[in-house]
Amino acid sequence: KSAAALEQSAQTESMARGGGRMPMVMDRALGATFKDPDGNTFIDLSAGVGVSSVGRCHPRVVAAIRAQSESLMHSMEVNSTKRTELAAKISEIAPDGLRGNCITYFAQSGSDALEAAVKFARRVTGRHQIIAFHGAYHGIWHASGSLTTGTNYRKGFGPFMAGVIHAPYPYAYRFPFDTTHKSAEQIAGEYVDYLLNTPYTAADDVAAVIVEPVQGEGGYVPPSPEFLQLLRKACDKSGALLIVDEVQAGAGRTGKMWAVEHSSVKPDMMTFGKGVGGDVPMAGLVMRKDLAAKIPDGCAPNTFAANSVSAAVALTNIAILQDPALDLLNRARTMGEEVQEYIRGFDSPWVGEVRGRGLMIGIELVENRATREPLNGARLGQLMNYVTSHGVLMIPCGRYTNVMRVMPSLTIPRKLLFKALDVFGEGLRSL
Ligand code: PMP
Repeated sequence: KSAAALEQSAQTESMARGGGRMPMVMDRALGATFKDPDGNTFIDLSAGVGVSSVGRCHPRVVAAIRAQSESLMHSMEVNSTKRTELAAKISEIAPDGLRGNCITYFAQSGSDALEAAVKFARRVTGRHQIIAFHGAYHGIWHASGSLTTGTNYRKGFGPFMAGVIHAPYPYAYRFPFDTTHKSAEQIAGEYVDYLLNTPYTAADDVAAVIVEPVQGEGGYVPPSPEFLQLLRKACDKSGALLIVDEVQAGAGRTGKMWAVEHSSVKPDMMTFGKGVGGDVPMAGLVMRKDLAAKIPDGCAPNTFAANSVSAAVALTNIAILQDPALDLLNRARTMGEEVQEYIRGFDSPWVGEVRGRGLMIGIELVENRATREPLNGARLGQLMNYVTSHGVLMIPCGRYTNVMRVMPSLTIPRKLLFKALDVFGEGLRSL
């Protein structure tokens, strides 16, 4: 047996199920590639599920870890200089509405940040209901897991938190309502306005609308700017907060630092995670100052929040994302458009739609372009085997697990990216 195969069976015996379902093992990584214990190299089009925006083990990040670990790592009970520096930096780069006027609550994971969002939104509004969306993924625990959709995450784990209302997300390719006269964004936005601002909808105590500005796990669905604009108006009328979940779409992935910036909408709160910490755990909830002022001291202690090493790494990641010499955000935007065109150019009968923003690209695979029937599991398995055995890591998402994601590190060398896409194209032809 190969070292990778031995490692796989050792994992099966020693780790709880839940994550890590890919048939490969990571041993060492650099940038957008990694090696397994047998020395096989893989090109990574998943970037740790959108985490490694600047690439794995970036030399500047490694240097920051080394330097910070020699001076201070853990400090829960006393504030640390690095943590304060990071909070100030986040305030400086936050989207309009929060920029220069916000406070950050630090967490370790996206799920934690969403738990905090629900807890604090309730406290500051004195209301309890939350509106989330069909196809949403906001985490796995009680509050965050109650916002998350998908039978695999829910079945057998209920009852969920009371007061969550799910509304349609403008997923135009599979929108169930007639879009002849209005776009999916208009219909979905107006629906939330109706829920919030009409008597007898029972949405009469809504603390917040929580939304992914580009839906991630639900299928990489980028709505037109109008959707968030309509949500903003509906929230303003009713006094509900608008919270954008930037855990997957943030940190430069869509070609702007935050995906909400494509809509020029000012959120009241924002969650972040994944790409901000990159190689280390780091997440948080950013709140407008006047809202944060209503949260009592000591109501949500969190032992490991913004460990100084994590803070130093996040500061380094942000510096890399903002480095004018690298111009990574523009690179994500232009390369993302190029990638979409390239994949459309395959003209594969299995490709129903290519969509995305920046380097957050979804390729919706279908059995039949006319009926849009999702690609079946057996064929998806065949495709996954093809790309994996040809040295490429891609992961699917979507409500029918039929959307392949292209979300490499924003630093991925062009040649490597297109080489991996060619493998994917050959995989499609092999079906
Ligand atoms: N929100 C969004 C939009 C996400 O995509 C995810 C993770 N896929 C989460 C929250 C949860 O993050 P974590 O896995 O770090 O708990």
